[in-house]
Amino acid sequence: MAGRSQDRSLREELTCAICCELFSEPVMLDCMHHFCRGCIQEYWDRCAHGPSCPQCRRKFPSRAFRTHYLLSGLVDKVRRCGSEEHQHKMQKHLEDALQARQKEMENLLQRKRLVQEDICSLTKVSGELNFKIRAEFARLHQILEEEERTVLAELGEKGEQSLAQLHRHVGQLEEGMAVLQRDIEHVKQTLSRMEDVSLLEVESLDIRPSVHVETQPALDLQHYRDSHSGPLQYIFWRQMLRSICPGEHIAVRWVWWARAALQRESTAAPAPLTFDPESAHPNLVFSRDLTAVTERNRAQPVPISPQRFRQCVNVLGSQAFDSGRHYWEVWVGSKTKWDLGVAADTVDRAAKVKLCPENGYWTLRLRNRTEYWATATPWVRLTPRQPPQKVGVFLDCQEGTVTFFDAGDMSHLFTFHQVSAQRYCPFFSTCFSDGRDNVEPMRLCHLAL
Ligand SMILES: [Zn+2]
Ligand SMILES: [Zn+2]
Repeated sequence: MAGRSQDRSLREELTCAICCELFSEPVMLDCMHHFCRGCIQEYWDRCAHGPSCPQCRRKFPSRAFRTHYLLSGLVDKVRRCGSEEHQHKMQKHLEDALQARQKEMENLLQRKRLVQEDICSLTKVSGELNFKIRAEFARLHQILEEEERTVLAELGEKGEQSLAQLHRHVGQLEEGMAVLQRDIEHVKQTLSRMEDVSLLEVESLDIRPSVHVETQPALDLQHYRDSHSGPLQYIFWRQMLRSICPGEHIAVRWVWWARAALQRESTAAPAPLTFDPESAHPNLVFSRDLTAVTERNRAQPVPISPQRFRQCVNVLGSQAFDSGRHYWEVWVGSKTKWDLGVAADTVDRAAKVKLCPENGYWTLRLRNRTEYWATATPWVRLTPRQPPQKVGVFLDCQEGTVTFFDAGDMSHLFTFHQVSAQRYCPFFSTCFSDGRDNVEPMRLCHLAL
């Protein structure tokens, strides 16, 4: 509206006071008033008393005026703007501008809607994931706490049982001592009254004490300790793993977490071992990645090496250890016989040597499909809960121990103590294949789900 009134006032300014139209060829008189050239000339023509201004009545000595080009241009412009064509053009221009802006506004609105939808979706998904992850961790915490309770309860129960047994034994010994004490008193009394006592009474006293307390088996404190030692975090993690659904990627993350945690604790998670073919008996054949070995009943053409076992179908791991704690797992599946464990790197490889700690071997062996032995001196027959398909070997160089586990459930199988060598090598023997009977390869397991 302001624009319209401005237009109107401008139009009035540019209107000739004589013809009341927009100036045509505007001229300015000395009194600074403007008129159309034609109008003022015509006015002066009709004026009898000499030239004067029709507006302010000022008289002039001559008919002088100045052409006002600037005003002329302005008038032209106002005239053009006032034309219908110009109005149409302007309207069209404004309508187009409006339409373009409305279109752009719609576009921005649409984009804003999409971004807002994204915000909603992101918030929703983030909340769902947060909930899910917290639930998974809650489950892991729960499993871990349950595991802790179970392990501590088991430890407590075994301890209680042993304690109760020991207390019972103390009770039995004390009872026996009380009976003996009474006997001693009786014998002493009889002795002090020798002259009053009848011979019959003396003869009725047995020379041997009437008390006999059963000897109880000695407390196996070492076994109690061994069955609750080893790479504990790894053992508990393996037990946890049974409660975790594999294939859930959280489990894979968990593996990395566990591995990282184990490495932080400097307790070795399963070492990525391979076999060392240079140490292998010529009958042994390896997979390309050196993680599987089988016995082929005949010698392969292999280079001669002092490292090579020549009598028994043995092979060592590619890595030797002189410090730290190391754990690896060996798949024996349903092989009918095998030996595995740790060997000193100085063992005699040319001779046929008995596997025992004195010769630098700390091993477990299977014979006749079902007989498990620890090759201590003398051998110890083992009775695993179930035939282990995967055996875990834990070497602790500082403690000087080699411990074996059924890697399926991490149940303890056997521990060698006072293990001593400069360097230790993982040791394996496939034993002879015996036709097809024991041909199944022995494998080194790399930790993977
Ligand atoms: Zn005029
Ligand atoms: Zn004037």
